[in-house]
Amino acid sequence: MDRRNFLKAGVFGAVMASSPISFSAFGQATKTTDRLGRLNLSFEPYELKLRHSFNLAKSQRTTTPDVQVRISYDGLTGYGEASMPPYLGESVSSVCSYLARLDLSQFSDPFRIEDIHEYLESVAPGNRAAKASVDIALHDLVGKIMKQPWYKIWGLNPDKCPDTSFTVSYDADPDEMAKKISETAPYKVIKIKMGLDHDKELVESIRRRSDVPICVDANQGWTDKEKALEMCHWLAERNCLFVEQPMSKDAIDATAWLRERSPLPIIADEFLQRLPDIRRAAGAYDGINIKLMKSTGMHEAYQMAVLARALGMKVMLGCMTETSCAVTAAAQLAPMVDWADLDGNLLIENDIFDGLKIVDGKVTLPDRPGIGVVPV
Ligand code: MG
Repeated sequence: MDRRNFLKAGVFGAVMASSPISFSAFGQATKTTDRLGRLNLSFEPYELKLRHSFNLAKSQRTTTPDVQVRISYDGLTGYGEASMPPYLGESVSSVCSYLARLDLSQFSDPFRIEDIHEYLESVAPGNRAAKASVDIALHDLVGKIMKQPWYKIWGLNPDKCPDTSFTVSYDADPDEMAKKISETAPYKVIKIKMGLDHDKELVESIRRRSDVPICVDANQGWTDKEKALEMCHWLAERNCLFVEQPMSKDAIDATAWLRERSPLPIIADEFLQRLPDIRRAAGAYDGINIKLMKSTGMHEAYQMAVLARALGMKVMLGCMTETSCAVTAAAQLAPMVDWADLDGNLLIENDIFDGLKIVDGKVTLPDRPGIGVVPV
């Protein structure tokens, strides 16, 4: 649904009516309702249109629901975003309802990031993508006040950003499959989704056309641990780097069994959302996939990367299908990670921000303050 249809459908109005506080849509009442010296939140739904339909082990889709967020403060604007792929359990309605309950105007100091996160948690549990949208906008704002990008505030070296992977999904039509693989030419790592009926065909069709390393994401699609181990050996012989979430997030014993025997590192994705989950992951997985929409944003994502490193675990940085806003926010952490899977903005056709660039396959951070994006 585009913005006009969303307004027509009355969803925005319904959210406004249920809101105990006043908030504004982009470009509308922002100026009249903004309070000087206070944080002012506004938000608006935005539907992401995917370039190719997304085929996962358990679903297929052509759009991703999304909400764009702004925090304005004394003439500066921080941008944030919530992206809600259906399997995460959040929706435009749940995110807007949560955001409508927030009263950020109680805060006069954007640097109180800890206090603001405590407040976000106190309003409602869950709502991780909604919280991430506020966190990202807040980080963007704080970075702009400091006139520095977050990788610098965190003390990270942008030259240490890894290559990013680019996702290819299986297509039964050989021409369509060839076209998808040809689109990976600028990238030095390919990511594939497995756990479907054509796992080996997909790898073989890539290997006929490309020899770059492949990251494998089974999205919990493998059910038998012996077969999963066989597949790990088969993939290791074909220059694959690791396997993400091979089995159900609930199959922790089977995953630990697989991890002990697998020639490839086993990475947790669906198993793990936030900081406290890392301790449980440590015995069964070699590494974790951090995503801002799971971690409630940049604040906790940074803590997760630090903890995982301290535990000797591998760190992967992922994203949902998102605009360059949330992807570039995540990319601020890229110098800390082993593998980056930051192609979410490249998989949509209606991006509304300019941000990170992929240069020679590598994540390249913009030299701009905050999260480093500008609206286009
Ligand atoms: Mg995954």
